[in-house]
Amino acid sequence: MQGSVGVHGILLLAAAAVLARCLLAAAVNTPVVQCASGTTKCTVTNAFGAFPDGSTCHVAAAAFPATEEELVRVVAGAAASGTKMKVATRLGHNFMKLSCPGGDGLVISTNALNRVVGVNAARMEITVESGVTLSELIDAAAHAGLALPHAPYWLDLTVGGLLSTGAHGSSVSGKGGAVHEYVTGMRVVTPAPASEGYAKVRVVNAGDPDLDAVKVSLGVLGVISQVTLALQPLFNRSVSFRRGGDGDLAERAVAFAGEHEFGDVVWYPARGEAVFRIDDRVATTKTNTISSGDFQNVIQSSRSTEQQQHGDVLPFQAGISVPLSRASAFIRDAQRLLDMNPGALCGGENGGILIRYVKASTAYLGKTEDSVEFDTTSCRHDGDAAMPEEMEQMALRKYGGVPHWGKNRNVAFDGAIAKFPKAGEFMKVKDAYDPDGLFSSEWSDQVLGVAGAGGVNVARNGCGMEGLCVCSEDEHCSPEKGYLCRPGMVYRDARVCRRVAGDAYADA
Ligand SMILES: Cc1cc2nc3c(=O)[nH]c(=O)nc-3n(C[C@H](O)[C@H](O)[C@H](O)COP(=O)(O)OP(=O)(O)OC[C@H]3O[C@@H](n4cnc5c(N)ncnc54)[C@H](O)[C@@H]3O)c2cc1C
Repeated sequence: MQGSVGVHGILLLAAAAVLARCLLAAAVNTPVVQCASGTTKCTVTNAFGAFPDGSTCHVAAAAFPATEEELVRVVAGAAASGTKMKVATRLGHNFMKLSCPGGDGLVISTNALNRVVGVNAARMEITVESGVTLSELIDAAAHAGLALPHAPYWLDLTVGGLLSTGAHGSSVSGKGGAVHEYVTGMRVVTPAPASEGYAKVRVVNAGDPDLDAVKVSLGVLGVISQVTLALQPLFNRSVSFRRGGDGDLAERAVAFAGEHEFGDVVWYPARGEAVFRIDDRVATTKTNTISSGDFQNVIQSSRSTEQQQHGDVLPFQAGISVPLSRASAFIRDAQRLLDMNPGALCGGENGGILIRYVKASTAYLGKTEDSVEFDTTSCRHDGDAAMPEEMEQMALRKYGGVPHWGKNRNVAFDGAIAKFPKAGEFMKVKDAYDPDGLFSSEWSDQVLGVAGAGGVNVARNGCGMEGLCVCSEDEHCSPEKGYLCRPGMVYRDARVCRRVAGDAYADA
């Protein structure tokens, strides 16, 4: 298929459908913070309505500050009483318990921190409060004739949430496709000593070394109040798709990284097919209005999802970045694996893997080298989850992959922090901003490898089925449902829960 495409629904259809398939089985518009009584006795969940371990996050209270001054008061009040805090956004798109402070804690919602503070056309910058959505940010920039050059594909993410988890689009050109590369300033409200009123606003601008910690922080440094981002003059994009066989995907997908500023690939293993998005900026010569055609603001992100229902099966998505230098070898291994059961991915024949490119970053918790991110979905009931799970372990353990901070299940975070050489620098900033760990939780401590916090793995019956552990015994795989813990088919060091009854590969 070759041809110019001009509307964002078409542009992102393949990529967004793959990204969103299996994701939003739960209602997407349910508030993630719900309180039994006013702003007390609350629960925090996410857009999926459930955490992978099936737990409910209870918190003592919720706060909904509408200004930075209110936010400072909220943080000061909690800090004065030593209360644990976490930020929750309107819809909470991360999979894990990143927004859960724990039992007696306080959840601070950014629902009401939703103003565009201003657009400085001369400096080509926009300043927004952290609860502003990507959609609102893009619109405000476009009204000033400006554009955020790169963004995640999903419009409903908030600026605070997407930065905290290092969210990105697809690019290794220029500064790359992650939004945090365009941050020029942030205001963060952190705890402070009593002598400073228990809370203070830290202003971190470009050139300040702390910015490398603050721009991707997993929410453990404090509450991001405002963010200033560098914009560019609004531009057009030219987009076309090239569909072909996946025989040379291992070589093509890597070479493709540098060929197009916004390129990505959707790989359909069951069909033996790959769709390359050929996507570049072009000179703006047309007379379109900014609300139509192929302008960056219209096509850069979308809100299209296939809200498939999957019964009582919690679907998952793994977003893992493999260094570009090792991506070809990984794809070859993945092809060998998926050739054994081409319909293994969620969606069967239509199941796909979204391949995007992420540039190395100076952010302490950002990518350490140019990488290829593989977004994979699998569902146990209409695919063979053992295959994508083996791919996941292969990407992480054999090919040095790192997990996306806002996606993935527990297993992907096990030992991940050791792959970030600047994690120690990050922890120094954390200790300076929040010495008592009021913005840390059991989960974030485990992910960040804080001494004594334990690991992210939860070893219990069925844990391998839920992504809470890499199985090491059959009980981890719910043998009563016909699954046993078995080595990988291609990556023999992998341990996956494989269906035994009637499974041609079961005894391998
Ligand atoms: C349908 C869908 C599509 C997606 N598309 C992409 C994509 O294209 N690219 C990509 O990289 N990722 C993508 N993601 C993942 C997404 O970027 C992350 O899950 C992101 O964290 C979600 O942002 P959010 O606003 O929902 O934040 P949340 O999930 O609510 O929060 C994430 C973390 O940020 C913290 N946080 C939020 N706001 C603040 C603040 N103001 N101050 C301090 N901490 C804060 C929270 O405490 C939490 O720790 C997608 C996810 C879904 C479900």
